[in-house]
Amino acid sequence: MRKYIIMGVQGSGKGTQAKRLCEAFDLVHMSVGDIFRWHIQNHTKLGARVKRIVSQGQLVPDDVVDEVVKKRLEMHDWNYGFVLDGFPRNQPQAEFFLENYDADAVILIDVSDQVVLERILSRRLCEKCGLDYNLIYHRPAVEDCCDVCGGRLVSRADDSREAVQARLHDYHTKTEPILDLFRGRELIVSVDGSQPADVVQKEIRRQLGLPLDFRSNKSDRAPAAPLNPVPTDNI
Ligand code: ZN
Repeated sequence: MRKYIIMGVQGSGKGTQAKRLCEAFDLVHMSVGDIFRWHIQNHTKLGARVKRIVSQGQLVPDDVVDEVVKKRLEMHDWNYGFVLDGFPRNQPQAEFFLENYDADAVILIDVSDQVVLERILSRRLCEKCGLDYNLIYHRPAVEDCCDVCGGRLVSRADDSREAVQARLHDYHTKTEPILDLFRGRELIVSVDGSQPADVVQKEIRRQLGLPLDFRSNKSDRAPAAPLNPVPTDNI
């Protein structure tokens, strides 16, 4: 059983690293952001509530987030373990986690604000077919023009410099301080996230003592359960 928390600012590549780790070791990727998006797309009561809160520019309250994580962990579909992504994000959430659960390690993907800004500000999206581009890693053949459908490439509204800086500020003031809580329990493994994704993944595995060349042979396994099919009317 392997129980990990992955932390890093948006744009650090933590989602990609979490997915790779999960695929290789049969762990369940528990992304709080994905769970909320699932609820919004499926028009659940919780989804409506989260959508309303976020559209007002507010953060989802801790008790709601705690409850979502609790319900997700209670599904016990994680026979080999999990990687928790997007939680905890502040001191109260971290205390809730440590009071109720435990983790084998907290994987910190460390990147400078400058790298995050460069990465996010170079993201583009085709407004016609929705294909993602990145002016650093995945440039279109013709500037501002989708390779597949010829549509115009645009930035997402929440990828503006101001929005990224607000998220960075939030991370430094609310999320970073909880690293001390985990450091006190000697749980943190810190990896330089400015390196290529393959190098970052190798470094994570090395620090966690996981085999570098391990790949699950359970590809015939049934697909993962929906993100959160549990009724959430009471939260
Ligand atoms: Zn397109």
